[in-house]
Amino acid sequence: MAETIFTKIIRREIPARIEHEDELCLAFHDVSPQAPTHILVIPKKPLPSLAEVTDADTPLLGHLMRVATDIATKLNLINGYRLVVNCGTDGGQSVNHLHIHLLGGRSLGWPPG
Ligand code: 5GP
Repeated sequence: MAETIFTKIIRREIPARIEHEDELCLAFHDVSPQAPTHILVIPKKPLPSLAEVTDADTPLLGHLMRVATDIATKLNLINGYRLVVNCGTDGGQSVNHLHIHLLGGRSLGWPPG
């Protein structure tokens, strides 16, 4: 996989406001927040997108979801929140390193654009 800006964030080569880190993933605040809370949860494993995951990644995907929901609880998003994974060009993915967006802190519209 080609290196992305997220690899550099994992390696601390560029700064980010980190909310959580463990052996499998990193969670940090989006540089261009679309809601009062906008955090990205990314695997340390360099997976380009959801389209590239295999059965072996199933536990990792579950872990990313649990980390995202734990952060939502920690940040007191009691009115709810949204998890989004953009995949590929039509999905609006702009960084080719799998990530879950955690959005909250305001009422979010539906459907997305
Ligand atoms: P995507 O469009 O791929 O689903 O989401 C990529 C997200 O990464 C965007 O929300 C964008 O604002 C965020 N992003 C891009 N570059 C950086 C960066 O250097 N630092 C941080 N913290 N977020 C970034």
